[in-house]
Amino acid sequence: MTIRVTIWNEGRIEKLQPKATAIYPGGIDGAVAEGLEGEGFELRRVGLDDADQGLPAEVLDATDVLLWWGHVAHDEVGDGLVDRMHQRVLAGMGLVVLHSGHHSKLFKRLMGTNCNLSWRERPDGDLERVWVVTPSHPIAEGLPPYFEVPQSEMYGEPFDIPEPDELLFLSWFSGGEVFRSGCTFRRGRGRIFYFGPGHETFPIYYNEHVRRVIANGIRWARQRHSGGRILENWHRPEPLGT
Ligand code: ZN
Repeated sequence: MTIRVTIWNEGRIEKLQPKATAIYPGGIDGAVAEGLEGEGFELRRVGLDDADQGLPAEVLDATDVLLWWGHVAHDEVGDGLVDRMHQRVLAGMGLVVLHSGHHSKLFKRLMGTNCNLSWRERPDGDLERVWVVTPSHPIAEGLPPYFEVPQSEMYGEPFDIPEPDELLFLSWFSGGEVFRSGCTFRRGRGRIFYFGPGHETFPIYYNEHVRRVIANGIRWARQRHSGGRILENWHRPEPLGT
C-alpha cells in the first residue's frame, strides 16, 4: 500500500533569510520532496500559511506519515491543530521530526520535556560526522558506517528529551561536541523519528545520505497495524462471559 506522506514546512525562514532562499529556492519542503522522488510515496507539501495551517482534517486524516520542519514560528501553530496531530500520532500516524522541529509544540508535547539543546551557528558551519550506532535498524539501511555533513549547525548535548527507545545516530562536530541526532520513540500506536541535520542555510537536504535517512524513516514510521489502517478509536470489547 502506498504510504501517504505529508511534508509540513513552516515556510517562513526561506522568506526571511536570503541565504536560505538561495539554497532552497523551491522551499525546504521542495528539496525534501525532491529527495523522496522515486521512493514510491504519495507526497503532499503543505505549510503554515496555507488554509487551516496546511492540515485541515481531510489532509491530516489522509496522512500516514507526517514530516515536520519548523523554526521561527512554532508558537503560531494552533493548539487545536496540535491536539489533532497529537491524537493522530497516538492512533498510529507516523511522525518524522526534522532539525529545529525539536522545539515544535507537537514534539515537546509528545516528549513531555522542553527538548532544549546546545547549539552554535558559524557562518561556514561545523563539520558534522554522523555515526550509525545501530546499523541493524531499518532506518540505517543502505548507509555507510558514518557519513559527513560538511557544513552543519552544531546541535549538542545535553538534549533534553526522555531516553529514546532507540538511538540510531550519534553526531560528532568539529568543535568536539556530540549529539544524539537520530532517535526513535513510540507513543500510543504511533512511531516517532527525530533526525538532527537540516539547518536552513546549508544545502543539507541535497545530501544523498540525509535523503536516504528520511526515506527510511518514513517507511519505519508507517503504521503497520490492521493492514496499515490508522485506528481512530480504541476497540472496546464486551466483557467476557462467565
Ligand atoms: Zn537550524
